[in-house]
Amino acid sequence: MATKNIEIVVAPPAPHMVGDGFRVHNFIPSGYHLDMQRMNPFIMMDYNSKYYFPPTNNPRGVSVHPHRGFETVTIAYKGKVAHHDSAGNSGVIGEGDVQWMTAASGILHKEYHEEGFSKTGGEFQMVQLWVNLPAKDKISKPKYQGITHQEINTFQLPDNGGLVEVIAGQYKDVKGTASTFTPIHLQNARLNKGGIADFSFPGNYSTALLVVEGSIKVNNTETVASDHFVLFQNDGESFVIEALENAIVLVLSGEPINEPIAAHGPFVMNSRAELMQAFEDFNTGKFGYLDE
Ligand code: MN
Repeated sequence: MATKNIEIVVAPPAPHMVGDGFRVHNFIPSGYHLDMQRMNPFIMMDYNSKYYFPPTNNPRGVSVHPHRGFETVTIAYKGKVAHHDSAGNSGVIGEGDVQWMTAASGILHKEYHEEGFSKTGGEFQMVQLWVNLPAKDKISKPKYQGITHQEINTFQLPDNGGLVEVIAGQYKDVKGTASTFTPIHLQNARLNKGGIADFSFPGNYSTALLVVEGSIKVNNTETVASDHFVLFQNDGESFVIEALENAIVLVLSGEPINEPIAAHGPFVMNSRAELMQAFEDFNTGKFGYLDE
């Protein structure tokens, strides 16, 4: 199989605040001046690199806001986040947990630091991905998958190299825990120093990785530091990573959805008319109701 080569290594862009609870580097789409199509079906990636939030009695976060036409996937590395939505779903995710929220036809939700975590304060580290939905599923029923760390299927790497958590898709013979609408691989490699993991995805898939902890060598050549993002070419199938110290690496790969994207704020649709409809439906209360 041909090697999947690196297109570019992206240093973390200057952070900005989302609400008062998420201090994020935006890698997709703005980190490499990507448009939403470049990493489609991954159309947005915000990374809250490790950051200390002091104690407070008023949990920080983002108040009630809508989404339509895609999914938000939140992966917790440190700290705890609580989610509530107008479809009646709620949950708290902590270290190693994943929240896979399918907005589809539309929800209102709020995302806050969990109350106990807020009171004690502490280090906080998260990724939020927006995963596009194909046109046929954009107005399907909202859905929520709260996936605990323990529920995530794992592949043990040889030679005490560590393990690969298969959040979605497949790694070797291990199938992912989350269900997806289009073919998506989303995996955390938790490597011990010297640990090696090889990955293989179809050549045309949009593929990237984020070094969440430690540092790695990619394809035996490129050293990639903590908090850096690696975009691969949509060509070649296989790449290999080696941990230069204990490391956590988020690997994402998905089949591009070859449809137009019309996006504005919290809505990602296929046409401008559908965007206008989303705003109208939101303004006329069709997304339901959620307490602040
Ligand atoms: Mn949101």
